[in-house]
Amino acid sequence: MTKHITYDHKCSGCQALYIPYDDRIPCPKCGMIEKDRFDFIPQAAESALFNLKNGSFEPMGWWVSSYADHLLIIIFSILEEHRKSNESGNFTSVARAFVDKLDWKDQEYSKEYVYNIVCRVYEEIQKKLSEPDSQSTIVKKWWQFWK
Ligand SMILES: [Zn+2]
Repeated sequence: MTKHITYDHKCSGCQALYIPYDDRIPCPKCGMIEKDRFDFIPQAAESALFNLKNGSFEPMGWWVSSYADHLLIIIFSILEEHRKSNESGNFTSVARAFVDKLDWKDQEYSKEYVYNIVCRVYEEIQKKLSEPDSQSTIVKKWWQFWK
């Protein structure tokens, strides 16, 4: 079982795919700020924590049904790389190294965007895990292991 996010959005100016996940999030390609908003961060954190119940941020299987799902699998990979690394307190440097080594092809403009979004998801996960009774003890066990 996995939790997918079905959301697609194209910039009305340049047709680039991105998610306007907060106020003042410009299109990563042309910089336009649109009216659309989609509350991606809490849902992404929830989906990642759901995976973690099986011991990994990366799901056993994943099909991509939308652009949000496409972003999620990159986010899961970065979270998992950080979880397995020795840099427990240093998420941003793990995320930075990860996006730097990806081949973005003609979507180089997505690099900073993905970096920013994954850092937000990571913050959200920390927030969720610090709330009492918000997550099962199984997830907390993995989180402790991670730290
Ligand atoms: Zn645009």
